[in-house]
Amino acid sequence: MKTIKQAKRLLRDAKVPFSCNCSLKPYTSLHIGGKAALLIEAYTLKQIKDSISIAKQCALPYYILGNGSNVLIDEEGYAGCMILLRNYNRIVQREEERVRVQSGMTLKALCDWCLDHELSGLEFACGIPGSVGGGVVMNAGAYGGEMKDVVTRVWYLDPQGEIQIKEREALDFAYRHSCFSHQEGIILEVEFQLHKGKQQEIKAKMEELNERRRYKQPLAHYSAGSVFKRPPNSYASLLIAQAGLQGKHVGDACVSTKHAGFLINLHEASAYDFLTLIKLVQTAVYAKSGIWLECEIIQITPNTTFG
Ligand SMILES: Cc1cc2nc3c(=O)[nH]c(=O)nc-3n(C[C@H](O)[C@H](O)[C@H](O)COP(=O)(O)OP(=O)(O)OC[C@H]3O[C@@H](n4cnc5c(N)ncnc54)[C@H](O)[C@@H]3O)c2cc1C
Repeated sequence: MKTIKQAKRLLRDAKVPFSCNCSLKPYTSLHIGGKAALLIEAYTLKQIKDSISIAKQCALPYYILGNGSNVLIDEEGYAGCMILLRNYNRIVQREEERVRVQSGMTLKALCDWCLDHELSGLEFACGIPGSVGGGVVMNAGAYGGEMKDVVTRVWYLDPQGEIQIKEREALDFAYRHSCFSHQEGIILEVEFQLHKGKQQEIKAKMEELNERRRYKQPLAHYSAGSVFKRPPNSYASLLIAQAGLQGKHVGDACVSTKHAGFLINLHEASAYDFLTLIKLVQTAVYAKSGIWLECEIIQITPNTTFG
């Protein structure tokens, strides 16, 4: 308690915007999760750095949240500083076909900007509801494109609080993986290499991909997208459907009948319901196919800490 009080005083002195005992549900696409002791909205690099340094000074855990579309937060909430980057979201620089953006910008906002500026290459990401930073962490991808195809450079804060740069080759991109999957640092800015395109064509591609999403995915429900990684030589959704699990539910956590890879929150699912359903799906799929599905979404417990 004393440390929270101390952190509040330090955050106030440093002019970092925060609120206390704030529900994390609205900050996640699953709409699941308890309250954060301290919820910090960082707008500037200084505020990001100050938040981390204050959390460390007060021996509190801290965590970074982009757009919250790939996380499952515990009912108990978060015991330390949950740092939101959604307002750290400016275009930093544009040089011809290269654009450098802050990590909290949503992929949707970046794609809209690309459309306005007739830059092509990111159309695949227009329906991925994550941030630029979260997209790099997971090497987000869809419809034949991945972040690794367009990211050239990343600026990040290392565990010592120093800004470092990594070039594409050092980012260790693989399927739903990058070096940042192991929380090697906090992504601050990302540079993309795009190419000149025609606005009409870029728009048509984005509309086509969004239509495919609307047709296939249960977008009217809270979810974190596909919960499981694609296993080698198969698809998680196919294995789940073959195990007869669509419509199966634990409380309000349910296997979507529209897309078997999506586990949805029908209304008031708890993290416990969700985790129980994940286990149930993994066990049933394993019994039927001999394949153990690996989770793609990231679980956050009250003391999960970054770095
Ligand atoms: C309806 C729906 C459809 C989806 N479709 C797709 C799809 O087609 N393809 C796909 O790949 N994914 C998809 N997803 C999953 C998700 O949108 C992506 O994984 C996305 O990249 C997550 O970004 P985020 O900003 O929401 O990350 P968050 O959920 O906020 O965070 C995920 C992880 O990244 C870390 N992180 C976030 N920002 C930073 C940063 N700046 N620096 C360091 N670490 C950071 C967090 O700490 C956390 O560990 C979908 C999700 C939904 C809900």
